[in-house]
Amino acid sequence: MSELLAARGAGLNTSASQVDQARILDNLVHNLQGMAYRCLNDSEWSMIFVSQGCHDLTGYYPEELLPGGSITWERMTHPDDRGPVRTRITAHFAVGRRFDVQYRIVTRTGQVRWVAERGIVVADERGRPVIEGFVEDVTERRATIMALAQAEQRYRHIFEHASEGIFQSSKEEGYLAANLALARMYGFESPEALISNLSDIGHGLYVDPAQRTLFVELMETQGKVEDFESEVYRRDGSRIWISENARAVRDAQGRIICYEGTVHDITERKRYQEELERQANHDQLTGLPNRNLLNDRLSQAIFHADRHEQMMAVVFIDLDNFKFINDTLGHAAGDELLVEMGRRLSTHLRSADTVARQGGDEFVLVLNEHQTPDTVISLLERMVDLIGQPIMLGGRELQVGASMGVALYPQDGRDAETLLKHADVAMYAAKGHGKNNYKFFTPEFNAVASERMHLEAAMRLGLEQGEFSVNFQPKVDHLRRIVGVEALARWQHPEMGAISPDRFIPVAEESGLIMQLTEVIARQAFAAAATWPRVRGRVLPVAVNLSPKLFMDRQIVDRVHSWIDTEGVLPEQVELEITESIFLHDQQRAQYILKAFKELGVSLAMDDFGTGYSALSYLRHYPLDTIKIDRSLVVDIETREDAAMIARAVVSLGKSLRKTVVAEGVENPAQFDFLRFQGCDEFQGYLFSRPITAEAIHRLLLDTRGQLTQL
Ligand code: C2E
Ligand code: CA
Ligand code: CA
Repeated sequence: MSELLAARGAGLNTSASQVDQARILDNLVHNLQGMAYRCLNDSEWSMIFVSQGCHDLTGYYPEELLPGGSITWERMTHPDDRGPVRTRITAHFAVGRRFDVQYRIVTRTGQVRWVAERGIVVADERGRPVIEGFVEDVTERRATIMALAQAEQRYRHIFEHASEGIFQSSKEEGYLAANLALARMYGFESPEALISNLSDIGHGLYVDPAQRTLFVELMETQGKVEDFESEVYRRDGSRIWISENARAVRDAQGRIICYEGTVHDITERKRYQEELERQANHDQLTGLPNRNLLNDRLSQAIFHADRHEQMMAVVFIDLDNFKFINDTLGHAAGDELLVEMGRRLSTHLRSADTVARQGGDEFVLVLNEHQTPDTVISLLERMVDLIGQPIMLGGRELQVGASMGVALYPQDGRDAETLLKHADVAMYAAKGHGKNNYKFFTPEFNAVASERMHLEAAMRLGLEQGEFSVNFQPKVDHLRRIVGVEALARWQHPEMGAISPDRFIPVAEESGLIMQLTEVIARQAFAAAATWPRVRGRVLPVAVNLSPKLFMDRQIVDRVHSWIDTEGVLPEQVELEITESIFLHDQQRAQYILKAFKELGVSLAMDDFGTGYSALSYLRHYPLDTIKIDRSLVVDIETREDAAMIARAVVSLGKSLRKTVVAEGVENPAQFDFLRFQGCDEFQGYLFSRPITAEAIHRLLLDTRGQLTQL
């Protein structure tokens, strides 16, 4: 302690400012937490000066460390650290630089403390190299740092080896970090591969890209997501379900820097849940919806029907003889029967419809989007037919029937329960009526249904027995000269007498008999037209009506072609009348078929114009030659101003598109004159001629040479 103390002593004799300086320095040095020193570079690090902090640091008083004291710094240094410390300091010593070492010392009480020593080699007042420096206790700090390092290590370890996926991502950059578990979960070999391949998280990862938007939105509004479940794509395109828990990481200003969170693969759980749900909502045996799901579907169907102002049908089906089969052939056969019937019912329904197993041998159908009882009727007929197909059970071929009851929404009930009850009531009525049939809850529909069924059967027979024939109605120009003829179907039933096309055409359309009927009518019409005399030097065109239903069959063009060929009529002589509804469903197909007809050389007329949807655009886009103004517009021409206006507009529209405009149902001269004055090209109606038989038209053409009643 000699030098500094000597300096202090010296200072006492010099100026006041020097004294102050020395005292300040002295105070400072001795009050430092830690030990300031000067020592020799010898084997004991012999101390020349040691500050008061020595005691706190080592438990020894400064005097004890000075030469002749009880201890030296070398001995206080932990035996294991003496060598390394000397090596470090010596190395710096050689080049005269500052050094900085950490090592252990053993204090007076035997405690091991970690110290940090910083020092430098300087020359003392006599030019001797000495070391000056400072030693402080860093035991605590070191412990904290070590703990931190360990925590960091542990965290790294968790991050890298965790079984759950861990990630950091940001809105703009996508993934910033990911662990191996996440990479594997998403089907990548490494986190790097994941990060570089999944730059667009929304579209690359989520099956529904909107999930990413929602994720970001939740982060921005709530700062976190919890159990955020999504379906995602793995790298190979397979799908898994994940649950994410994540939070937003913000900077000091509260702005979001990134998101970090964990990901769990919950595919198993999801599948299990779905399976449970399926089991709760489906019948075990047939896999069809059960009572639970049926009620759901029924409520939805009612809601839908309400919204779209449509009707909806609930059908209760009970298999006939099920109990008998179950009792005689055994339960296995009974089960098989139920499965097969469920299959048959479901394959013939539209996707919007539902077939459910109500229990036992009862099934329930929910039929949506049926516009009229008529379409329901034809579906039921198909169902009766289907169920009646033979089935092999226990090595035997069997036939089962079913009784069905129909309740319609809204007329037969406004809620699910009532509808089911009424369908059930109707079903019992059907059973009482000799089984294998159906009954409506509302009696009038039963009348409609039975007439329809009756008519359909009669038609099948009538087609075989040649009860159908054709009548012809002429079309005339403004001078009443015949310019064409329309073929109209006629049915003369041996008992029921003449049945109007307005009754039997819908039945033919619903039952699928329309193709057969059209063939009969078209061939008779073509055959007749082929024999007609020329009128004013030209062959007279014959028009045949084509039901929109025929457009479902791609073969229609080939068929018409072959009828034309076999009956010997010229394609130029043939006109086909179609209606707007062919454009309702498949416009592309309609266009394709119409084009094929045109290529055949026949001409095309739009029938019943002004009654339907009248989307005028198709008039421009489709290859139509003629527009026929519907009778309903013609009838009202004299009495209703709006009808007259529409008729006038249709005529001028047709003219502007260069179509031939025909007026139907012209019954009196006033209508004729009005339309003629407007520029209508052709006219058809009782004023000129009713539809007449083939012989009658032939005679008419010969007798009048095509001129009907003088002007
Ligand atoms: P449509 O094609 O509009 O045929 C014209 C209908 O109007 C015919 O009735 C005809 O007799 C009737 N009519 C003609 N002039 C007058 C008149 O001045 N006043 C009145 N009140 N009626 C007149 P029809 O023969 O009973 O045919 C009814 C509908 O049945 C036809 O309407 C057509 O849509 C359909 N139809 C008839 N034959 C066939 C056919 O062979 N195939 C197809 N798919 N439908 C046919
Ligand atoms: Ca027609
Ligand atoms: Ca018509």
